[in-house]
Amino acid sequence: SRAHVVVVGGGYGGATAAKYLRMWSEGTVDVTLIERNPSFVSCPVSNLVIGGLKEMADITVSYDNLKSKWGVRLITDEVTAVDTAKRSVSTANNGTLSYDRLVLSPGIDFMTDAIAGLTGNEERIPHAWKAGAQTVLLRKQLEDMADGGVYALHIPRAPFRCPPGPYERACLVANYLRQAKPRSKVLVLDANGEIQSKKALFAKAFEGYKGLLEYVPNSELRSVNASTLTAELDFEKVRANVLNVIPPMRAGNIAVHAGLPLINERWVDVDWLTLEAKGVPGVHVLGDALFPAPVMPKSGHMANQHAKVAVAAILNLIDGIAPNPAPVVMNTCYSFVDSKNVIHVASVHQYDAEKKQPMPVQGAGGVSMAANELEAKTAAAWAKNIWADMLA
Ligand code: FAD
Repeated sequence: SRAHVVVVGGGYGGATAAKYLRMWSEGTVDVTLIERNPSFVSCPVSNLVIGGLKEMADITVSYDNLKSKWGVRLITDEVTAVDTAKRSVSTANNGTLSYDRLVLSPGIDFMTDAIAGLTGNEERIPHAWKAGAQTVLLRKQLEDMADGGVYALHIPRAPFRCPPGPYERACLVANYLRQAKPRSKVLVLDANGEIQSKKALFAKAFEGYKGLLEYVPNSELRSVNASTLTAELDFEKVRANVLNVIPPMRAGNIAVHAGLPLINERWVDVDWLTLEAKGVPGVHVLGDALFPAPVMPKSGHMANQHAKVAVAAILNLIDGIAPNPAPVVMNTCYSFVDSKNVIHVASVHQYDAEKKQPMPVQGAGGVSMAANELEAKTAAAWAKNIWADMLA
């Protein structure tokens, strides 16, 4: 009988996996994709929406091709539980589905309880770290802020989704405020001791916003007051007009509650040759939910690469063939530092049989020499191409 693969989460990892399972099996494997949202909304490029340079329509893509062109069965629903022993998933409105193999790419969920006063206040103190309604909300708060207001952004300790993302956001909000509300201020409260990606390039970009943007490392947030929009740090309280708190995060709830092996109680531990959760054969986990290999970022590009390694392994395993013993994956992340200039970071990661995990390939990859306009074109092409790779 035909193998049935259920994919949970239609983001960068899951949508790629669903399409490639159908494409590379030439339609011989049945694929069901379960995603709570009716269309795909991209986190990459969402900082440009927050900075007033793009619209929500520019980052929203339909799932229609996955159904009509690739024959994926799409269920728009919430997965409420996974039973790895019975090999089934439960949904809110579509009952229980059984699978031969499961792909989980649920992204992240937030540990809001780690910051006192935050839980239940995400309308007042948005994270905008999942694109969608939160992106619109943060943009609106910035539009409504008076000239002379303070926008404060809190960055949690690494590892977090998209290492360069918060610094790009700080730049794009500063770029907007410099034009629209020049007496305002951007305050970057970083729980980390330094900028987590493209450090010299972002430091240079921050210099360019001198007087407008202040970067404060070692600023771990302890609590917030949602009525006064006050952020309480160890030694200081900071009052903001727009308070954008990216909370500490971990693997998506459905992966945590499925009883998969977790590292630091947060991230799923996988066998890097098949992306199967360790000790749970048949359950493949992708993307941000993973405990990262050394210097492997939590990025959409990387989730897309995880999906391809996992799909190749799944199709081999279904056919009784050993998985590729030496997969290679790569990553590129572009960041806008203003409306025109972009920087990138790239890396290549090859499986190391002794270390049993992907290791960065020395001399491969690197960062931009300087922010430049040409890479704005490359960044736009990157987004167009990866959305097509996943969803067209
Ligand atoms: P996601 O893409 O988040 O997909 C998870 C999906 O699972 C979601 O659609 C969710 O609705 C669904 N889901 C979860 N649980 C359930 C459930 N129980 N039932 C049903 N559905 C469920 N990466 C880059 O490569 N380049 C960039 O330029 C870049 N910029 C970024 C900018 C920002 C502001 C942010 C926040 C992130 C950025 N990233 C970027 C990172 C990128 O968005 C993530 O790394 C990527 O989305 C991870 O893919 P994923 O499949 O793990 O999770």
